[in-house]
Amino acid sequence: MTAGTTRSARWPWISKEVQAFPVSPNLLDYETACSRFSWADARAALSGLPGGGLNIAYEAVDRHAAGPRANHPALRFIHADGSTHAISYAELSEQTNRFAAVLAQLGIGRGDRVFSLTGRGPELYVAVLGTLKNASVFCPLFSAFGPEPVRQRLQLGSGRALITTRALYRRKVKQIRDALPDLEHVLLTDADGDPEPGTLDLAALMSAAPSDSRMAGTRGEDMALLHFTSGTTGTPKGAIHVHEAVTAHYATGLYALDLHPDDIYWCTADPGWVTGTSYGVIAPLVHGITTIVDEEEMDADRWYRILAEQHVTVWYTAPTALRMLMKAGADRVAGHDLSALRFVASVGEPLNPEVVAWGQEAFGHPVHDNWWQTETGCIMIANFPAMDIRPGSMGRPLPGVEVALVVRDDNGKPVIRDGEPVLVTEPDTMGELALRAGWPSMFRGYLNEQERYRRCFAGGWYLTGDVAKRDHDGYYWFVGRGDDVIKSSGHLIGPFEVESSLMEHEAVAQAGVIGVPDPVAGEVVKAFVELRNGWEPSEELRLDIIGFARKRLGPAVAPRLIDFTTALPKTRSGKILRRLLKARELGLPEGDTSTVETPAEPR
Ligand code: AMP
Repeated sequence: MTAGTTRSARWPWISKEVQAFPVSPNLLDYETACSRFSWADARAALSGLPGGGLNIAYEAVDRHAAGPRANHPALRFIHADGSTHAISYAELSEQTNRFAAVLAQLGIGRGDRVFSLTGRGPELYVAVLGTLKNASVFCPLFSAFGPEPVRQRLQLGSGRALITTRALYRRKVKQIRDALPDLEHVLLTDADGDPEPGTLDLAALMSAAPSDSRMAGTRGEDMALLHFTSGTTGTPKGAIHVHEAVTAHYATGLYALDLHPDDIYWCTADPGWVTGTSYGVIAPLVHGITTIVDEEEMDADRWYRILAEQHVTVWYTAPTALRMLMKAGADRVAGHDLSALRFVASVGEPLNPEVVAWGQEAFGHPVHDNWWQTETGCIMIANFPAMDIRPGSMGRPLPGVEVALVVRDDNGKPVIRDGEPVLVTEPDTMGELALRAGWPSMFRGYLNEQERYRRCFAGGWYLTGDVAKRDHDGYYWFVGRGDDVIKSSGHLIGPFEVESSLMEHEAVAQAGVIGVPDPVAGEVVKAFVELRNGWEPSEELRLDIIGFARKRLGPAVAPRLIDFTTALPKTRSGKILRRLLKARELGLPEGDTSTVETPAEPR
């Protein structure tokens, strides 16, 4: 069908780009969708467990396996050599049954935490969904983490089982195992009949396990996923998500990613992060579509080949990746047939307007930015396909999501009066981005930190910690973070975690860590280091400290830059003034920070 002509006659207000869509967008009229939307209706579009209750794995796998989509490819893996291997919904159901049975045989049950530290192979996807079938809680770790972030998260999350590879076990887990008394079982995905001492052979256990249905009875409010995220101070925060979140994964997959039954969808995020779980695993499978999984790291030519050869229709990626593609040049796209592609979206960091326009030039589609965070569990603000994009804007709130901006005081603290946040009413005015609490995928707590959780809310609003503006037409524009947390290549990095590791180096007395702008990664981590008595700054020492940090924290978290200093700026009570370090680094006015206990309410 040449939808263009038909549609322009029916919906003359829709942009030309949308009129050229090969399929009709799920969300055509934003205002009408917002006025009619209800979360109850979204929930009703799901099946629910046959005996009552809700389980993400049932919505994502078993209900399709029991219906006409049974033989439809659910996941298509692209191996390093370019060869592919697809798993149908029926096969995924069987494999996840086996995985759930393995957990049960090991005595891992309801509410127990199963962690993963592995690449994007089939075992990871089977583990996510099999864990949920077993009513256990899944917690992914990013495989580029070093031993220190791995230890901290496994310890905080009381992980009872870990799925990993032999190499990752040897490099990152073996030496910290003694510090993890709760970690009873380590299952190797590549043991090949010969597991390391103290580990199990996952493939052997899977093939011996029964394949009959293992769907545990769970309720919407049962804990399903634990995602660690970084704060300004202290340890990482374990954001708790429940099975009910699947309602929001479904609705946002429908509206913000515009998923249709015949789509071939590719989310480039690693399931070690929340985007890779919510939108690399759950949302597309709930929609019963085919998801592409590239097992390799990013490479421009490889990515274009995948887009073309796999006939990807919807592509969800990140600004850093797009900036890398842009740097590689639009001519790299030439020769690749991207005609199947109809929608490109991105998340995780500010998306430069130039990248939006470059998408149009390179792929024939602009990039649609959207915004959310670990705590929200799903996309909250988006540029929808049927709306004109405003390059540089994150878009408008999802139907069912109420967004506001909260006035900030001179210290950057949200202004709360009589328990209610004071809301910004004027357009184009900065405020802290707040969301009316109650959407289905809202986090239900920070693990073992109820006070920290409580501090995120005021008068029924969740305060996100991000600062934004809203224009006359209700589009939101990201301004920055209200705290010191660093976003590098889309990964949130807590400065305290990095400072603590640096201080374990024998030469380091103190460290202050900030993010500094970088044209590709958005920000890179920079540390200012005060040396202990008897140590002198040198290039050799700088490299040694960087190497030390990379080994402990992993390359994704360790500082890329180190400056030596003799006096880190501090508050009167001795806290490092990261804001001042940043102002100096960027040549900005320093303001009067002499009395500031930064940040006011660390989260
Ligand atoms: P995470 O919890 O790791 O997903 O990181 C969430 C944070 O990433 C948000 O609080 C923002 O600071 C940032 N972020 C996410 N999406 C966007 C976006 N579209 N534009 C700007 N910043 C974003």
